Amino acid sequence: PLSTRGLHMKVGFIGLGIMGRPMALNLLKGGFDLTVWARRDASMAPLLEAGAKGAAGPAEVAAGCDVVFSMVSDAADVEQVALGAGGVADGARPGLIYVDMSTIAPAAAQGIAERLAARGVTMLDAPVSGGEVGAINAGLTIMVGGDEAAFGKVKPMLASMGKSVTLIGGSGAGQVTKACNQILTGVTVVAVAEAFNFARKSGVDAGKVRAALLGGFGYSRILENHGQRMLDRNFKPGFKAWMHQKDMNIVMQEAHRLGLMLPNSAATAQLFNAMVGSGMGEEDSVAALKLFEQLSGD
Ligand code: NAP
Repeated sequence: PLSTRGLHMKVGFIGLGIMGRPMALNLLKGGFDLTVWARRDASMAPLLEAGAKGAAGPAEVAAGCDVVFSMVSDAADVEQVALGAGGVADGARPGLIYVDMSTIAPAAAQGIAERLAARGVTMLDAPVSGGEVGAINAGLTIMVGGDEAAFGKVKPMLASMGKSVTLIGGSGAGQVTKACNQILTGVTVVAVAEAFNFARKSGVDAGKVRAALLGGFGYSRILENHGQRMLDRNFKPGFKAWMHQKDMNIVMQEAHRLGLMLPNSAATAQLFNAMVGSGMGEEDSVAALKLFEQLSGD
C-alpha cells in the first residue's frame, strides 16, 4: 500500500555532488515527490530536468517537506545547512525528519541532532558506503543512528537509495559505524597501493599479482575495484583524497577523545595528509599509489 511505501510524503534533498546527485535521482525513480536545493545552479539542473522541484534554499526545502535529506561535505556544512541562517530549522514544520547522509564526526552529529530537537526537528545520521557506483546503482550500504519511529518512516526512502539499510543505535551510531568503515577502507586502499608498488619494484606485474590474489584470503572489493583503478591509473574521483583525509581525521579525533590506540589508522591518516599536501586532494584516494611511487625513487 501507498502509506507503507512512504509515497504520500514530500521529500527534500540538499547537496547534489558526486553522491547526492545520483541518490536524489534514485528517490525520483522510486516515485517520491522531490524538492531539491544545491548552492550551484549547475548541480541543480540535472535534477530539475529529471522532474524534481527546485527550492531557493534549505529553509524553503524544509517548508514544503515531511522529510529532508542532506549530502554535503563536513560537519560545518551540515551545521550550516541544518541550523544556519535560512537553514532547515528555519523553515521546518513541526515533526520534520531531517536525515543527514554526509560523513561527519559522531559527536558533531549528536550535537546537531540535540539542537534540532529543541526546534522540533528529529534528526537521523545515515552515512553511506559504496561510493559513486553504489550511489548510481542504488546499492549503497546505509548505517543509521537515531529514533526508531523516525527510522521506520524514512526506511522506504533509504531503500530506494541503498540495498542494505540498518538502524545501528541511537544518535551518532550511524557515524560511529561509518568511522569503522573508513578505518577498514582507508587502511585497505593504502595496503593495496603498498602491495602493488612492492610488486612493481620487485620486477613483477602488479596486474598479475592482483588477478592471482583475487581468489586468495587477501581478497577484498578494494583489491578488486580500487586495485583495477590503480592499474588503469584512473585517479578521477570517485572519492576525493581530501574527503578520506577528513574521515581519518574524524577517526583520530574520536581516538584522542576516547584515549584509544589506533596505529594503523594513524599511519593511514598521515598518508592522506601527505596526498593533500602534495596536491592530490581532488584526485581519488587510489592516487595513494603515486605517493608510494614517488617515495621509491620514481
Ligand atoms: P562532493 O562531490 O564534493 O559533493 C558535496 C556537495 O555538497 C557539493 O556539491 C557541495 O556543493 C555541497 N556542499 C558542501 N558544503 C555545502 C554547504 N555548506 N552548503 C551547501 N552545499 C554544500 O562530495 P561527495 O563525494 O558527494 O561526498 C559527499 C559526502 O558523502 C561526504 O561527506 C563524503 O565523505 C561522503 N561519502 C562520499 C563517498 C564517495 O565515494 N564519493 C562515499 C561515501 C560517503 P558545491 O558543488 O557547490 O561545492
